[in-house]
Amino acid sequence: MTVTLAPPAPTPRIAAATDPLAVLGVPGEVNLDYAASAPCARAAADAVAELLPWYASVHRGAGALSRRCTLAYERARQTVGDFLGARPGDHVIFTRNTTDALNLLARALPAGTTVVTFAGEHHANLLPWPRGSVRLPVPAGPAEAVRALEAALTGLRRGADASTPVLVAVTGASNVTGERWPVAELTRVARRYDARVVLDAAQLAPHVPVDATALDVDYLAVSGHKLYAPFGAGVLLGRADWLDAAPPYLAGGGATGHVGSAPHEVRWVSGPARHEGGTPNLLGAVALAAVCQALADTDRDALHAHEQRLLARLRTGLAALPEAVELRTFGPDAPRVGIVSFVLAGRDSAEVAARLARDHRIGLRDGLFCAHPLARRLLAEAAGRSGRGDLPPTALRASIGLGSTSQEVDLLLTALGTLRW
Ligand code: PLP
Repeated sequence: MTVTLAPPAPTPRIAAATDPLAVLGVPGEVNLDYAASAPCARAAADAVAELLPWYASVHRGAGALSRRCTLAYERARQTVGDFLGARPGDHVIFTRNTTDALNLLARALPAGTTVVTFAGEHHANLLPWPRGSVRLPVPAGPAEAVRALEAALTGLRRGADASTPVLVAVTGASNVTGERWPVAELTRVARRYDARVVLDAAQLAPHVPVDATALDVDYLAVSGHKLYAPFGAGVLLGRADWLDAAPPYLAGGGATGHVGSAPHEVRWVSGPARHEGGTPNLLGAVALAAVCQALADTDRDALHAHEQRLLARLRTGLAALPEAVELRTFGPDAPRVGIVSFVLAGRDSAEVAARLARDHRIGLRDGLFCAHPLARRLLAEAAGRSGRGDLPPTALRASIGLGSTSQEVDLLLTALGTLRW
């Protein structure tokens, strides 16, 4: 039997600095795909390395190692909750990722809850919601989003019993365009109609501070792997009442207070453990907490300003390429995080991405970015705006964050400008 070996991997670059927010990478590989999964921050890698010798069970052992791991896990919960602005009494539940967090919430909704969302959402914030949910069209701007929500909630409250639970599910920043959604304004409207709000902060939290209390959102979901902590943890944070009244998300050990001998004779605990059945992801939680702490300790305004400069450079450079057309929902000047989607007229996006990877060692994303309704609509809108009849059916997405440099942006722009077919 012949075994084909993969070429030897380049030596990984461990960030030389002691900066906890330096990211790990590989020399020569240009990573412009942070929105899919960000690279690992030193803080996360160090926290995991430090804990590994102690690795043992969580909530399940009397030994010193186990007790230390239990403490580390619960401290991580506290740190992450503080970082995301949890209120006293909120639950901070460790999940696998944002998809898992939103599915958990969907299962915890009181019977008859109506969920209102927009067609501009990632599939993770479109698909888990129950039948009968309201999906509003992609708005042309933030003000239109607010008006559309107000109209929808007026209709719902007029038609139904005022006590019917309503949940508004909205993203903080689009994973397709990077545009920021008017979360505070949408939440103010929701409050007037006694509706709750869940914020999909998967793309917002890696770029700007997100505080559930300040934004007045009821629930918030993030993914560790997009927050520089790629060890398999995510978070659902939010109000305890629905979560404690719901059936456990995962039935099993850790979620139970008492199990009798008769089938179904079980008392479930309340609190985060109710929905964290099974052995928890200690390393994921600790890694995520380490990054949250490092971000909390740093000057986020400075990080944001740097990222915005790179983003402007990228967008200006793309605008100068004759075939490039940017995708956008809200208009060219809408506030956004470090994500840009675009197409090259007359070029297949998958082929462009493959050529960038093969010839230039640049990694970015192509496709419809798990937001098919939005991406298709924006591609059609881009065709109309640019007047080009030869736009491809899928797009390219470049995304940046901690550790991104202007050289990397320039490498992409140069590569796009010199692609030969
Ligand atoms: N929400 C948004 C806005 C996203 O961009 C993503 C992933 O790209 C998700 C939710 C789902 O995140 P995950 O795949 O980590 O569950």
